[in-house]
Amino acid sequence: DTVGGPEAGVVISRYGQQAIIVTADDTPMRCHIRRTVESLVCGDEVVWRRLDPSSAEDVGGVIEAVQPRRSLLSRPDYYDGLKPVAANVDQILIISSLLPAFSTQIIDRYLVACEDIEVTPVIVLNKADLMSELPPEEQNQIEAALQMYQDIGYRVLKVSAKQIGGLKPLHDVLEGQVSIVVGQSGVGKSSLVNALLPDIDASVGPISGGSGLGQHTTTVATRYPLPDGGVLIDSPGIREFALWHLEPERVAWCFRDFRPFLGQCKFRDCKHVDDPGCALQQAVVDGDLHELRLYNFHRIIESMTLKKPSRATAK
Ligand code: GDP
Ligand code: ZN
Repeated sequence: DTVGGPEAGVVISRYGQQAIIVTADDTPMRCHIRRTVESLVCGDEVVWRRLDPSSAEDVGGVIEAVQPRRSLLSRPDYYDGLKPVAANVDQILIISSLLPAFSTQIIDRYLVACEDIEVTPVIVLNKADLMSELPPEEQNQIEAALQMYQDIGYRVLKVSAKQIGGLKPLHDVLEGQVSIVVGQSGVGKSSLVNALLPDIDASVGPISGGSGLGQHTTTVATRYPLPDGGVLIDSPGIREFALWHLEPERVAWCFRDFRPFLGQCKFRDCKHVDDPGCALQQAVVDGDLHELRLYNFHRIIESMTLKKPSRATAK
């Protein structure tokens, strides 16, 4: 039985019919989830009530309701479509690196996903300490690509998880915000999270959250309060973004530098390839649009038509 009035809390991570929340006074608390609560993910703001403390369980409360979400990140699920993973995120740190190789195609996929849910992306190039080991030509290409993203209006940071002293710009970006890290395997997400949160017990790892419910942690997200205020969310499950649910027109809109030219093509169903009167092609010719972005747009559209799973073949 519950005791006392409704209280506010935020979900740190969810495990089946239980969740770990932080209470209004920042105490972690394990709670049951009422069956009437349909969906609950990391970052959700909830209403909960305390359980009678005399009950033998190690569960402290019951989550009764979820507040409306300001944003929602989802990952693709082969059978169920989109699965929500994290709510109320302010910004998404797109982590890239020089090893595995720097890829604007991967960055653009993440950017599209961010634009689609209208959460601010920050492009973070990690392993900047390895830059000097690359051939000068490759270095120039990478610098040009980073400049391209800055020209478009995105925030770009170069950091190294191995040089903790140089992480000040990243700390500044994170301050007072709820941020989540995404990026390919091996780019250094865990290393960066550990470098930003030096107090995390390395034996627990930044991913399991030390809840003792380890086997369910492969796709859940966990929230870490930052020393300067703000929250960092790390979620293995969100590292892959879903794009195949988007229509090509939406993907084009999610290339924010395309927006001034959309609707100006001669043909309404312009594919922006070699169609006559294409405003995007013309913008590239005029130097008003980066050719690389239009190239990456077409690669994304191609991969979407190839990968879209149909229910008939999925089972
Ligand atoms: P994750 O899969 O994205 O979480 O990547 P990890 O944090 O596990 O890092 C992958 C590898 O890259 C590890 O061997 C790290 O030691 C290494 N690494 C991470 N950050 C840096 C960095 O800034 N510089 C260098 N040189 N290596 C790094
Ligand atoms: Zn066009």
